[in-house]
Amino acid sequence: IIILGIESSCDDTSAAVIKDGVLLSNVTASQAVHEAYGGVVPELASRAHQQNIVPVVSEALKRAGVSKDELSAVAFTRGPGLMGSLLVGVSFAKGFARALGIPMVEVNHLQGHVLAHFIKEPDEVHASPKFPFLCLLVSGGNSQIIRVNAYNDMEVLGQTIDDAAGEAIDKCSKVMGLGYPGGPIIDKLARQGNPKAYTFSKPHIPGYAYSFSGLKTSFLYSLRDWMKDDPDFIEHHKVDLAASLEHTIVDILMEKLRKAVKDTGINEVAVAGGVSANNGLRNAFREHAAKYGWNIYIPKFGYTTDNAAMIAMTGYFKYQDKDFCTIDKPAYSRVSIK
Ligand code: ATP
Ligand code: FE
Repeated sequence: IIILGIESSCDDTSAAVIKDGVLLSNVTASQAVHEAYGGVVPELASRAHQQNIVPVVSEALKRAGVSKDELSAVAFTRGPGLMGSLLVGVSFAKGFARALGIPMVEVNHLQGHVLAHFIKEPDEVHASPKFPFLCLLVSGGNSQIIRVNAYNDMEVLGQTIDDAAGEAIDKCSKVMGLGYPGGPIIDKLARQGNPKAYTFSKPHIPGYAYSFSGLKTSFLYSLRDWMKDDPDFIEHHKVDLAASLEHTIVDILMEKLRKAVKDTGINEVAVAGGVSANNGLRNAFREHAAKYGWNIYIPKFGYTTDNAAMIAMTGYFKYQDKDFCTIDKPAYSRVSIK
């Protein structure tokens, strides 16, 4: 079984090839065009996808050493994401599959992030989470705790009621005048700072829900106050601010996750999505594994942010279930994982 995966939900155009569950290639073109705007500009993203999609797919097939006639199916991200971006990948995937006379498999982008844990590289000894497991999905658009019963059976236990964790980091980084996306920049600065230097307000909401908009406001107002005395406050305390912000976010995320582990009795715990690239969060996972005996699963850096390998992997599972889709299925911008 050879699956071509295509991802175009936000600002990365990506294609990957998976053969019998093993990843042969994963090619991603990122879009630098958005940096100047401090965020993704949907119309520009869509146009860049149009330019990138053909060369990215060709390169993925080339690196995999697979010709298009050998493909079993084309898997593509149907949603959620930016409509204009999704349309490029969805249209390409449908046209390509139809021209080759092979099935198409639609993939939920969030399910893809979770199943990134099953991506296997050639000759890799890979420990994947065992079902049922809990997955903390933290990305630019989502922060949720998911109970994963099977590849195709996921249940959201709780999610953010406002901003996502990645969104909060990106916004705070913008307030500090740092670049976009803020996640990797904050991560780098945080490694040199004191995580206990400042405290910011944490939400008090019930259940497994998250909230990050209050933190963003608390961060902004604190900065304003401090800058009254020292206009260059940010410059002087950049690393401590980054470390304290990261520490607060990681604390909020882990507190609810601990609760979910305790309540469900499931101690197979994974993390996924762009924010799982964060070193502070990764360290917190390792500490929890040591302290509470969790079996933890942290994805490789390359499979944290958007990539087509996770889409091809999900497509591979769905292909085995003969879970194909018809050409009339439109892209969707918003939908839950289940
Ligand atoms: P979604 O998957 O919810 O649709 P998305 O696809 O835009 O959203 P991802 O690509 O999974 O999100 O993740 C992007 C987010 O991850 C951004 O907010 C970015 O700042 C954040 N991020 C990336 N690397 C790091 C890091 N090292 N530390 C913290 N955050 C990071
Ligand atoms: Fe994503």
